[in-house]
Amino acid sequence: MFTMSSKLTEFITLDEKDINGDSWCGLCGATQVCMPYKALPCTHIYCYYCIQAAMKEAEETEVPCKCKKCSQEVTQITPYSLI
Ligand SMILES: [Zn+2]
Ligand SMILES: [Zn+2]
Repeated sequence: MFTMSSKLTEFITLDEKDINGDSWCGLCGATQVCMPYKALPCTHIYCYYCIQAAMKEAEETEVPCKCKKCSQEVTQITPYSLI
């Protein structure tokens, strides 16, 4: 769908099938996240900066960080490349 040809992009595109095509960042709306991180346990993809900031805010406000895509509580984040 996207015209980028980097290996990273192809990798994300491949995995889209497993995550219902949600490789875009639900926090900033970027369709190409530059440093993909997975929200756990739901495994939705976000930019590292976005999800990290959301987790930090959740910690400070003591309001659980919820995934913008599925509303599941995000308990952990992990680098996408560690799959
Ligand atoms: Zn983002
Ligand atoms: Zn989710």
